[in-house]
Amino acid sequence: MRLLTIDSGDGPRAGVMTDEGVILLRALGKEFPDTVIEIIEGGAKLKSEIAKALASSEAKPLAEGEYTVLAPIPRPRKNIFCVGKNYIEHAKEFQNSGFDQTSGGQDVPELPIVFTKAPTSVTGPGTVVDSRLDPTGTLDYEGELGVVIGRGGRGISRADAYDHVYGYVVINDITARETQNAHKQWFLGKSPDTFCPMGPMLVTADEIGDVTALNLITRVNGEVRQDAVVKDLIFDIPTIIETISRSITLEPGDIIATGTPVGVAIGFTPPRYLCPGDRVEVEIGPLGKLVNTIG
Ligand code: MG
Repeated sequence: MRLLTIDSGDGPRAGVMTDEGVILLRALGKEFPDTVIEIIEGGAKLKSEIAKALASSEAKPLAEGEYTVLAPIPRPRKNIFCVGKNYIEHAKEFQNSGFDQTSGGQDVPELPIVFTKAPTSVTGPGTVVDSRLDPTGTLDYEGELGVVIGRGGRGISRADAYDHVYGYVVINDITARETQNAHKQWFLGKSPDTFCPMGPMLVTADEIGDVTALNLITRVNGEVRQDAVVKDLIFDIPTIIETISRSITLEPGDIIATGTPVGVAIGFTPPRYLCPGDRVEVEIGPLGKLVNTIG
């Protein structure tokens, strides 16, 4: 199932992307929740009830142009978990860029580096990333696969980890590099408002099959900058879930950005930072294309 949050004039509402177009859940004539987080909380049972209602519904899809697509979870309940330096070639480019103050001189980490982005950093597809919130002028992109937790828990083992995944979403972990560098930690440089574009939709895990086979491509003004396969993650999804949940309770709707591959702006000499007017696209096949402009 492909879940979206859209605004067709009366605020954020949950919808499903069908082959014919977007259908609002409220159009199905049942008492379904109207937010994607609540749908996630309803688990497999609610998902199958929605699928059944969709199959027998006469509801007409919305016409394109009648709605705006927001991030599937426009305001997460807690910070977005993120993994740093989780593809080998990116770990090396980051280390070599001189912008990594936290590595202790080590390029490929021995354990997952986990940081977070503030919930207020989330923005939807088609929006403008506010470059004025990076006064250092060192704005960078990071195309990433986002994992959305379904069933929560603490102490989740690697073996059980995929049972706790509800689905996947495209994320752009926008970063103010000089802020990240100067403060010697990652939170401030990665959490300004609009620095977490997400979307266009949350695709449930059952539709994806082997998530490690997904291909991630980032383009800036049409030029391919990142092109990688999820199986090249240093720490795979089960390891990330096991690591975070060892001491932190994961809950339905929690989001984990799994890391970015080689090809970010600071990997170039000189760095190719984002500028106002630039268009950034992050595309992961079945999850769709996340497009934002820099303003
Ligand atoms: Mg990142």
